[in-house]
Amino acid sequence: MEDNRFPSIDARVRAIGEALDSAFREGPDWVSYHALNAECLYVTPSARRWVGDTDLVGRPFSSWPMCEEDRNSWMRAWLAVITGRAAERVVWRPACADGRPWMETVLMPDDFRAELVGVMAWHRDVTEEKEREAALEVSIHKLQLAYGLARSGYWELDVATRRLTWSQEVYDIWETDPERFGATYDAFLETVLPEDRPLVEQAVSRAMRTHSYEMEYRIRTARGQIRFVRSVGRYLELRGGRGVLFGSVQDVTAQKESELALAASRELLAQSDKLAAVGQLAAGIAHEIRNPLTALRGFIDLMYQRARSHNRRYLEIMRGEVSRMEAIVSELLRLARPERPRFQLVDLVDLVQEVVAFMGAQALLHSVEIQYEPLVACVMVQGDANQLKQVFINLMRNGIEAMERGGVLRVRVFEEGGQARVQIVDQGSGMPPEALARLGEPFFTTKEQGTGLGVMVSQRMVADHGGDLRIESEVGRGTTVTVVLPAVQAADATV
Ligand code: ADP
Ligand code: MG
Repeated sequence: MEDNRFPSIDARVRAIGEALDSAFREGPDWVSYHALNAECLYVTPSARRWVGDTDLVGRPFSSWPMCEEDRNSWMRAWLAVITGRAAERVVWRPACADGRPWMETVLMPDDFRAELVGVMAWHRDVTEEKEREAALEVSIHKLQLAYGLARSGYWELDVATRRLTWSQEVYDIWETDPERFGATYDAFLETVLPEDRPLVEQAVSRAMRTHSYEMEYRIRTARGQIRFVRSVGRYLELRGGRGVLFGSVQDVTAQKESELALAASRELLAQSDKLAAVGQLAAGIAHEIRNPLTALRGFIDLMYQRARSHNRRYLEIMRGEVSRMEAIVSELLRLARPERPRFQLVDLVDLVQEVVAFMGAQALLHSVEIQYEPLVACVMVQGDANQLKQVFINLMRNGIEAMERGGVLRVRVFEEGGQARVQIVDQGSGMPPEALARLGEPFFTTKEQGTGLGVMVSQRMVADHGGDLRIESEVGRGTTVTVVLPAVQAADATV
């Protein structure tokens, strides 16, 4: 036996033995030393607690008493150490250890004077850890069952390999299956909406430090649906430094949608409250003004009868202005207490003509000329004449107010594709896209004296008529507002 060993091996084993004997007499671990043919040359006395009285020295590990399944793992580790000259780990069960079956052995090459002379094996009892791990596995399994019951999915990410494990519920939420989904972290990231991806990645790397993971993000399912999901998890470092992130994920789309809808309707409610308050205020003021106006008109009429002719001219002007004030007050009242629309057959060519005449004075005040261009003799629609007038007043007023240095306001009426159109084209300031986007929002105004109600009320009224309001605008060039209403064909009109 002496001959096939390295010349120095006996001395080396003796030296190692002396150093280890006392150190490992009662310790929790034990150590053995092996020749390159795996024969055990030395073992610390403490080995007895795990292997009993079996003498290990003189026998290769392949004939040590151990569970049959573990011999292969030993063989693999041994070969790796001999060929790779790096430490290897093997977990095994000595055959006659009662109640403490699990050993973890680290095999270390003994490079004595730069030459591989033997292998040192350090054996450690890992029964407790193994039991803990097994318990963990059982509880993870139970957890998976619980997730299934709670209709949420279980997932697990192996941080080193970036492989994902998903329970069936997760596949259901993602509307895919194991055949189609390459279960990797990168494939998963692909399903997250691009805006939310950085958040997910941040949460994952944060979990490595804080050990907990919690977030909501949006995904696109394999069938193209957008879903909100909520995910909570834990980060665990298993033995051997293997990191796993695991947790549950739940589809919270329905919940999210109802939350959003709730927020939207709250906002709407707040706005309509505001609208109602302003409406009431306007109605109150209009009412208060109407009575004094009636008195004014009465006295003007009285004075008119007694006045001399040159004073009559002034009184006529005063009467005209009071009429205008009365008209404004009634528009205000109409706005505040929207009447039930009374639909009838209306000729838009006539109606717009009336509004143009009504707006003439205001236009002149702003150095604006209104050019009325009806392109047809008549365009019939079903509608409430007062509401429609209100709409055109609001829109023409905006056009006039947009032309600070005066200009031409063109108003056209025509029919196209069975639809009646009234177009109001100004040469005013125009609107940037941000303003255009907010148009129709109650109280959105850029004017000092503005109410920010004109466009909103017009839009609502046009919509009540089954039509719609289209607005195009270019900063510095002007704005074109088109009111589109369903036209009544001449044949129907005569019925
Ligand atoms: P108000 O006229 O009281 O401000 P509106 O609802 O009628 O309220 O209009 C809201 C805002 O939209 C205006 O303040 C203005 O900034 C913009 N706007 C509406 N019509 C035009 C237009 N024809 N040209 C330029 N800006 C307009
Ligand atoms: Mg306005």
